[in-house]
Amino acid sequence: MSIQEIGCCGAYCRTCRAYRAPCGGCTSGYGSGERDIRKARCQVKVCCVTRGQPTCADCPEFDDCRILGAFHAKNGYKYGKYRQALIFIRKNGHAAFVTVADKWTGACGKYPRQAGEDGAAAVEQGVAPVGRPRTAARR
Ligand code: SF4
Ligand code: SF4
Repeated sequence: MSIQEIGCCGAYCRTCRAYRAPCGGCTSGYGSGERDIRKARCQVKVCCVTRGQPTCADCPEFDDCRILGAFHAKNGYKYGKYRQALIFIRKNGHAAFVTVADKWTGACGKYPRQAGEDGAAAVEQGVAPVGRPRTAARR
């Protein structure tokens, strides 16, 4: 289990075919200098790595962040699921998230109800806050 298996935005990198080689995960290599964050195109990642946050779930700006809110508000089921992942992490921690996510076959998936699904349900019902969109992030 590694926190580097979690993308800043809430995507679960370990299930990606590019994980390990050549990618290694959303945030790997920046601390060691192998990768240059100034060359990253994803605004979410640029902000998260620059701030030194493991993921956006760890950021005090989470509830009101417009960069993250714009990303999670994009069309597509997966974006809501990524937000769901970050809400789960905020409630339960990284280790609990990876334990759940290790059973997934993609970058997002389901949660056991007893493992804090309420945050997830809030997102799917439109109850959980999403920051007001300003600019969309690119991968
Ligand atoms: S979309 Fe951005 S933040 Fe999310 S996993 Fe990809 S590079 Fe990381
Ligand atoms: S400010 Fe927004 S994009 Fe940046 S680390 Fe915090 S939540 Fe993520």
